[in-house]
Amino acid sequence: MLNVVLFGAPGSGKGTQSERLIDRYGFHHISTGDVLRSHIARGTELGRVADSYISKGQLIPDDLMANILADVLDNEVDKGAKGVIFDGFPRTVAQAEALEGILQERGRKVDMVIGLETDDEELTARLLKRGIDSGRSDDNLETIRKRLEVYHNQTSPLRDYYTGQGKYRKVEGKGHPDEIFTAIASHIDSI
Ligand code: AMP
Repeated sequence: MLNVVLFGAPGSGKGTQSERLIDRYGFHHISTGDVLRSHIARGTELGRVADSYISKGQLIPDDLMANILADVLDNEVDKGAKGVIFDGFPRTVAQAEALEGILQERGRKVDMVIGLETDDEELTARLLKRGIDSGRSDDNLETIRKRLEVYHNQTSPLRDYYTGQGKYRKVEGKGHPDEIFTAIASHIDSI
């Protein structure tokens, strides 16, 4: 079972490209943002906690996120799945270390990290556009700025972390979604 992390800032196209990866490769898709939003929609206790961070553009604490991830892996991923795409996790070095442990305990590892790289101006424009119909509490200018700041401070160090492990593959995130997908697929096909 392949384990591929789709990495990038908010608005970099992880969701769009994940859909294509599911279609082409039949991978199971884990979006931690979707998991949290589903808790918010169902009004669970976790949803209440998550909402207090999400609406401010902050990250949910690492320990809580690692537990959620392990739970999804054990209970929602079909054991026969060809692979898993991690979308939105890990977002900190502590989460990357937790993921390593979680996968190791299950006899698996991160095989590749595909990084969609795009500039802040383009990301902000895309997120504002998405905000018109997404209904997401965090797709407004103030929260978008905060999310990008959090990305640069807490998440982008993962590029070096995974580059050091020889697992990071950069993909230009600006351009036509078809071209971006072709670049992603060529990396996956090389595994
Ligand atoms: P996303 O849908 O991936 O953009 O995530 C939306 C929001 O959910 C983020 O801004 C965070 O507040 C929260 N979130 C999602 N994934 C994580 C994670 N791995 N660690 C911490 N917070 C997360």
